[in-house]
Amino acid sequence: MTEDKNTIIAQNRAKCICHSCPTYNECMRADDQLLFCVTGKSPTCTFDKKGCLCPACPVTRVLGLKRSYYCIRGSEQEQK
Ligand code: SF4
Ligand code: SF4
Repeated sequence: MTEDKNTIIAQNRAKCICHSCPTYNECMRADDQLLFCVTGKSPTCTFDKKGCLCPACPVTRVLGLKRSYYCIRGSEQEQK
């Protein structure tokens, strides 16, 4: 992981609203997994799509993101 990516994670992790999302489940909560748009899809959890809050998240605006369901589909970079 690059230094830049670590900086982005440090600056934006607290802004991630995944924990309020209906798709976010106990598996993700147990590991405190967040910021999938930067870090990529959940490495350990599986889940059903029940909606995605990413378009309403402040990080979407800050990073200029265009996609959603990062926890399932992978990071913005991986979805390009
Ligand atoms: S865009 Fe989605 S994955 Fe990224 S910080 Fe916001 S809620 Fe979390
Ligand atoms: S990436 Fe989107 S679908 Fe996944 S938990 Fe975060 S807000 Fe919900």
